[in-house]
Amino acid sequence: MACDICGAIGTPLNDLLPSYQTAEIKALCPACEKEVNAKSMQLMTWAQRIRESLTKRFMQERKGMLFSKKPAPKEAP
Ligand SMILES: [Zn+2]
Repeated sequence: MACDICGAIGTPLNDLLPSYQTAEIKALCPACEKEVNAKSMQLMTWAQRIRESLTKRFMQERKGMLFSKKPAPKEAP
């Protein structure tokens, strides 16, 4: 058995959680696992910032929709 990313042999392998497995990548050596975990944490931080930002935008847009003044009907010439 070899690491499914770097191909290292003679190293312990850790199975990925099923939700992270691909057709070709199912088990990683400790070095690859460390890199993947670091990237996953970075992506989680970015995703959290995007989620917070989009939720704030949604709230402001909803507030704007609820309290926006409707345009006055145009008077006939
Ligand atoms: Zn590896």
